[in-house]
Amino acid sequence: MGLNVEKNGRITLYRGRGCQKCRGTGYHGRTGIFEVVPYSESLKKMTNATIDIETIRDQAKAEGMVSLRGNALKKLLTGKTTYQEVLRVTWEQP
Ligand SMILES: [Zn+2]
Repeated sequence: MGLNVEKNGRITLYRGRGCQKCRGTGYHGRTGIFEVVPYSESLKKMTNATIDIETIRDQAKAEGMVSLRGNALKKLLTGKTTYQEVLRVTWEQP
């Protein structure tokens, strides 16, 4: 999933035990993950041209955009969700 284990050392992941209220899933409620693109001058120029979406994504990342998975990984590392759920909701956007 792009987690840098060498950089972070040991990583602890969590999974809820589950209860009757959540029907044993361990998930209570929902949380949102977001991908926010800063609409810079350089991106503005790119969207006016016939440039493919991957090039625009790369430029947005270079300008500090945190990807959907990157955002989900923050929730994973803080114990808010499981790696299964991160993979499930971000499998199209590594
Ligand atoms: Zn529960």
